[in-house]
Amino acid sequence: MNTSSSSSTDTELDVDILVIGAGPAGLYAAYYAGFRGLRVAVVDALAEPGGQVSAMYPEKAILDIAGFPAVKGRDLIAGLLKQAAPFDPIYLMGEQAQSLAHDVSGNAVVGTSKGRTITAGAVIITGGIGTFTPRPLTKGLDFLDRGLSYFVPDLSAHQGRDVVIVGGGDSAFDWAMHLEPIANSVTLVHRRDKFRAHKSSVTKVYDSSVQVLVNADVADVRGNGWITEVDIAHKLDKSTTTLPAQSVIAALGFTADLGPMTDWGIDIDSRHIVVNTRMQTNVARVYAAGDITDYPGKVRLISVGFGEAATAVNNAAAALDPDAEIFPGHSTEQEG
Ligand SMILES: Cc1cc2nc3c(=O)[nH]c(=O)nc-3n(C[C@H](O)[C@H](O)[C@H](O)COP(=O)(O)OP(=O)(O)OC[C@H]3O[C@@H](n4cnc5c(N)ncnc54)[C@H](O)[C@@H]3O)c2cc1C
Repeated sequence: MNTSSSSSTDTELDVDILVIGAGPAGLYAAYYAGFRGLRVAVVDALAEPGGQVSAMYPEKAILDIAGFPAVKGRDLIAGLLKQAAPFDPIYLMGEQAQSLAHDVSGNAVVGTSKGRTITAGAVIITGGIGTFTPRPLTKGLDFLDRGLSYFVPDLSAHQGRDVVIVGGGDSAFDWAMHLEPIANSVTLVHRRDKFRAHKSSVTKVYDSSVQVLVNADVADVRGNGWITEVDIAHKLDKSTTTLPAQSVIAALGFTADLGPMTDWGIDIDSRHIVVNTRMQTNVARVYAAGDITDYPGKVRLISVGFGEAATAVNNAAAALDPDAEIFPGHSTEQEG
C-alpha cells in the first residue's frame, strides 16, 4: 500500500491536525482534514496503514460499506489512501504516539516512539482497540521477516511456497483458503481439535487440499538465513513430523492495549474514550473517532467511524479557526 505520498524524517513536525491511528477512521479523517485545507499527519504503530482491516482481514469482502455492495478489505484501504492522497498527508508508520502535552499557545504536543515531537492545532485519536501486538510464535522468533510473518498483506509473497499456518481462528482459515490456490502446499497447524473460526470456513478448508493438523504444535523452526523446515509435535501420539516450509504464518491472535493513551488525562471508560456529540474528549484540542470512542448507543462499525471522523475533523476545523463553519460545504461544489 502506498503511503509514500509524504513521510518525514524531521524530529519536529508542525501540523494543523494530527491523526493517531491509520485505520479506516483515521484515513478518512486525513481525507477530511485535507478537504478542509488543513495540513495533516497520521501516525500509526503498525508498519502498514489500514488498522484492523489490513492486519486481520485484507482479503475478506466487507458487505456493509455504504455504496459498495462488497469491497475487499485491501481495496477499501487502498481507496481511502487514494482519496486522501491529493492533500498529501504525512504518514508516520511504525511509530507509536506516546505522550500528550500542550504548549503555551494551547497546541497539542505529541511525542512518539521514534523521539519525534509533533505539534498540532488539534489531535484526533482514531486508535481503535489500541496498539495491537501479534502473539508471538515463540519457536520461530529468530526467523521473523525471514519466512515467519504475522500478517499477510500480500498473498503473492507466498506464491509457490510450502506454507505452514499456525492458529485456529478466522485469520488462519481465511489465509489458508486464499493461499491454497497459489502456494505449493498449505498446512494448518492447531494446538486443539476445536476451532474459533466460522464453521463455513472450516468446512471449506477441510474440503480443499489444505492439510489440517490438530492437537499439534510447532516444535522447531529451522533454516539457513530463511526458513526451510518446521517440526510439528503431535500431542496425542507424541510423534514429530518435519515439513518443508518457506513461509510460516503465525495467526495466534493479538493483544491490544491502549497503552500510553491511558496516561494522557483523557476520560476512558472500559478501554474506550468518552466523547461528546462533537467527538470532543475532556482534554482541550483532543477529539476521537472510530472504534475507540464511547457514548450511549455507540455501534463499532467502519461506517460509523467514517461519520465520526467527519464530525471530529469539522468540529476541530471550526475550533481552530473562529471564522470557519463546522459544515464543510458539499464536496460536489469543489468539482472542476
Ligand atoms: C475479522 C474482523 C472482521 C470485521 N468485519 C467488519 C465488517 O464487515 N464491517 C464493519 O463495519 N466492521 C468490521 N470489523 C470491525 C472494523 O474492522 C473496525 O470497526 C474498524 O477497523 C475500526 O476502525 P478504526 O479506524 O476505528 O480502528 P482500527 O482499525 O482498530 O485502527 C486503529 C489503528 O490505531 C493504531 N494505534 C492505536 N494506538 C496507537 C498509538 N498510541 N500510536 C500510534 N498508533 C496507534 C493501531 O495500530 C491501528 O492501526 C471487523 C473486524 C474484524 C477483526
